[in-house]
Amino acid sequence: MEKEKIIKTLKDTLNRIKEERNKTQTNSSGWESIISIYEKAIIDAENNIYFSISDATRIYLEFNSDYTSNIFKIMEFADKEVENYFNSLDNYNECFICNTRFTIDSSMIPQNQKTFYWKCPNCNAELKIGNPNYIENSENEKQEDVTDRDELIKIMELPSNIRKLSEEEKNKIICETIISVSKLLKEVKCDSSEYQLSQRQQKTKDNAINNIKTKNFLEAYYEITDFVDDYGDRHNGKIFETEKQEINTLLAIIYNNMQQ
Ligand SMILES: [Zn+2]
Repeated sequence: MEKEKIIKTLKDTLNRIKEERNKTQTNSSGWESIISIYEKAIIDAENNIYFSISDATRIYLEFNSDYTSNIFKIMEFADKEVENYFNSLDNYNECFICNTRFTIDSSMIPQNQKTFYWKCPNCNAELKIGNPNYIENSENEKQEDVTDRDELIKIMELPSNIRKLSEEEKNKIICETIISVSKLLKEVKCDSSEYQLSQRQQKTKDNAINNIKTKNFLEAYYEITDFVDDYGDRHNGKIFETEKQEINTLLAIIYNNMQQ
């Protein structure tokens, strides 16, 4: 396999470097730096992690300006082989924090997600990665695109003809919907980080409270749906704990009033 070829190239190069070091006996710290770069590259390549070994050729030139020497050519060759190999991989990624490049075993990647999170094998940073295995189909599209907020908006929807219904029917539908909403909010994993309501949300909340005071429960309810939609600002689709509490409180007031 290609990977084995690369590891062999690195190992052969490392052996040549060691031979060269033993021959020259000069500037041992320079040689040691080059050797440690190759040793790390070999261990990492065995673990499907790749990083450039061009640093080694750079160090070589720092203490030995011999562009024509045999050992320099071998190092440069190894460097290019690693780069070529790396570029030939379909499924490689580079950590934007530590620049380590690594591959992911494609059998570990779910097919139905457009993107997924993966920890950098070197620095453990959480990286968002496009899924090379993603199979485009309408089923997956649905799963990918529906966020918690979308789901909440959808479940909050009332029949478009609700205003034409009798008070009794109206109340029944709203109360049933509120129960479904609170069920959903219980299941949803909310973002508990600090969040301040947007101006729009503050306004819709005030409107909802005023409508509750004047017993316009349907209007109050619609204000809460606007609160969730927040002018289409979806905050990454997540629902914040702060928002959830506001929604639950307002809906509970409406529900309790309608039950009376
Ligand atoms: Zn990293």
